[in-house]
Amino acid sequence: MTFASLGLSDALARAVAELGYDEPTPVQRAAIPVVLRGGDVLASAKTGSGKTAAFLLPLLEALRARPGGAVRPVRAFILVPTRELAAQIVDSLQRYGRHLKKPLKTCLAVGGVSANPQMLALRGGADVVVATPGRALDLVDQNALRLGAVETLVLDEADRLFSLGFADELNRLLALLPARRQNLLFSATFPPAVRTFAERLLHEPTRIDVDDGELPSSDLILQRAIQVDAPRRTMLLRQLLETHAWSHVLTFVASRYAADHVALKLNRAGIPATSLHGDLSQGARTQALADFKAKRVRVLVATDVAARGLDIAGLPAVVNYDLPRSTVDYVHRIGRTGRAGDPGVAISFVSADTEAHFRLIEKRNHLSVAREQVAGFEPTLTAVSAAPPLDANGGVKGRRKSKKDKLREAAAAVPPPKRKP
Ligand code: ADP
Ligand code: MG
Repeated sequence: MTFASLGLSDALARAVAELGYDEPTPVQRAAIPVVLRGGDVLASAKTGSGKTAAFLLPLLEALRARPGGAVRPVRAFILVPTRELAAQIVDSLQRYGRHLKKPLKTCLAVGGVSANPQMLALRGGADVVVATPGRALDLVDQNALRLGAVETLVLDEADRLFSLGFADELNRLLALLPARRQNLLFSATFPPAVRTFAERLLHEPTRIDVDDGELPSSDLILQRAIQVDAPRRTMLLRQLLETHAWSHVLTFVASRYAADHVALKLNRAGIPATSLHGDLSQGARTQALADFKAKRVRVLVATDVAARGLDIAGLPAVVNYDLPRSTVDYVHRIGRTGRAGDPGVAISFVSADTEAHFRLIEKRNHLSVAREQVAGFEPTLTAVSAAPPLDANGGVKGRRKSKKDKLREAAAAVPPPKRKP
């Protein structure tokens, strides 16, 4: 199967070949023909499985094949939950579209930076706008962004955009779009409640579930859980950094304060680290991510602002210093590693206080991760908060290997085809 055989023109097939994409991934195979036909799509496929190209390539093909007029109304509107992800998608658009005869105009519309350059850029019209919801609405209010001619709406990390924090903004934006349009919804996770809600937006959608019923994270990720007392986590992280040859490590914490604090402590210990969270200026956020991608810092200590969609080439390890509050975010966080065919490890720190929450994460994601202890870091503290009781048998549910676990292990033992990023 080739990209050309899916209906993509030579210019696009050539661009992806140059990026080292030998053949389309399963979600690309399933989605590209449907998107080209103009159909609606609700696609769920694992982290790192190539969802971006699954919607961008056919979108570019459609825009290329039916050029717009001189006024360039916004024809494709791509909404995502974070600024960094929006910038990454614009990058991908440029890469995939580089051989198009008539280059398409793409605008980035995200908050945290001055709106003026974005307004200027939009003045000449744009074929594609990639936006975060808040700034998109601001630009609409300023009359700089008009969505009345949008042909295709894409929601990447769609379930996140349907969550409470974004619901109002999303609804206001949806009301501005033409009723007749193509809708493309992509994510690694679609909790049932979100799915029901999302489907109301779709018109006779094709549902793509590449990994039906399975854990939505990659088989390439080795998941570990280390029991440790909360106050000793930084020391344990330092020890792990010493004993593993990881080139760089993404560490998730629960708060902006913790991000700065842990990064500071690592730096003091001689480990180059930086933080990424929503209290930083956008300039500092962009710089932190760029430094990390370029491996100028070894550890990026981030809040969940980095949990979704970011594609950090060859990231070998993710550490949950704090567990994610949302059980779906566990899947997204660990999915920053194990991408594009490269294996990775995801380590969660679990203390007496967070054991019950980790059990919930396991249950919701149909997982069972063996608890480990590291010599010198054996936990001694007991839970201070009232932990929910164990199940009726007094045991931890799911500790014994299920049939599914065994199948998964068997699947993991088969080396996956090597794909280049
Ligand atoms: P997802 O959105 O599903 O998490 P991405 O779209 O970010 O995944 O893609 C993950 C990585 O895989 C990216 O580095 C991308 O360049 C690479 N990739 C995508 N499609 C292919 C392909 N067909 N062959 C090889 N690599 C690919
Ligand atoms: Mg993605």
